[in-house]
Amino acid sequence: MTVTQRYVGRFAPSPSGPLHLGSVVTALASFLDARSHGGKWLVRIEDIDEPRTEPGAEQIILQQLHALGMMADEPIWHQSSAGRQERYRQVFTRWRDQGRVYGCACTRRDLQRVAVNELGERPYPGICRTGLPFGRQPRSWRFWVPNDATVNFVDRWFGPQEQQVFNAVGDFVLRRSDGYFAYQLAVVVDDIDQGVTDVVRGADLLSSTARQFLLWDLLAARRPRMMHVPLLRTADGRKLSKQNHAPPVNIEQPLAVLQAAWQALGFEPFPADAVSAFQQEAIVRWREQFGPAAG
Ligand code: GLU
Repeated sequence: MTVTQRYVGRFAPSPSGPLHLGSVVTALASFLDARSHGGKWLVRIEDIDEPRTEPGAEQIILQQLHALGMMADEPIWHQSSAGRQERYRQVFTRWRDQGRVYGCACTRRDLQRVAVNELGERPYPGICRTGLPFGRQPRSWRFWVPNDATVNFVDRWFGPQEQQVFNAVGDFVLRRSDGYFAYQLAVVVDDIDQGVTDVVRGADLLSSTARQFLLWDLLAARRPRMMHVPLLRTADGRKLSKQNHAPPVNIEQPLAVLQAAWQALGFEPFPADAVSAFQQEAIVRWREQFGPAAG
């Protein structure tokens, strides 16, 4: 990052339910990182996946963030808005016209045969890469990944990363068979359009970064710095999530929630008698560890 480029960070929850402690950890890390760099912090509601959006969840999420002392510096963005949908369509159409995206007729069932790899992906075996099988119609649309695309980057938490996207995931979906634009497309176009310089998010997305950087490069945008923070896990090692019934955080006790999230990030607890006092001190301590002068 150059000195002239002002830090812009974001928290981008999917409104599939209220925030649980795992999502608060991510929100807090992105908030503290933005504040400790004197930067802006944005909130984007990733409601592109309409079937998974829970009515009322967005309002609860914003109330929870407010109670925890985390307020966005700009109006909240929504992926479902007409303007954003139009923008995804524009990028998608341009790539389709340029032959960077191709129609794919494969069903989930067709792809079951491919084994899941260590990233939890079934690399696309390229069935429709050179054209649709005779008589089949496109269902989804995939990004044509160059065979030799190797993406390298340094994650601020996990260190140097390298992924050969073609082998690791193959051609990935940009438009789904139900017509919705895929997360990978929307997240990149939004981050670029919002001027995001720094992404701080959960480690479950570490393996998506290489895919996303291919899209950043194609849009000739400066890649953001990345920090993926470790995920909270259930006792049996699964990611804490709405699917495994992680309870919503209790905003009646905001300090207890903040202290728990802080310690989950590996920091020592410290006394604070109010949310604002907690945030002030946490920003100082985060800056010592990860701020502009650190490392
Ligand atoms: N919406 C995604 C989630 O809730 C986060 C996307 C991102 O931070 O890139 O897991």
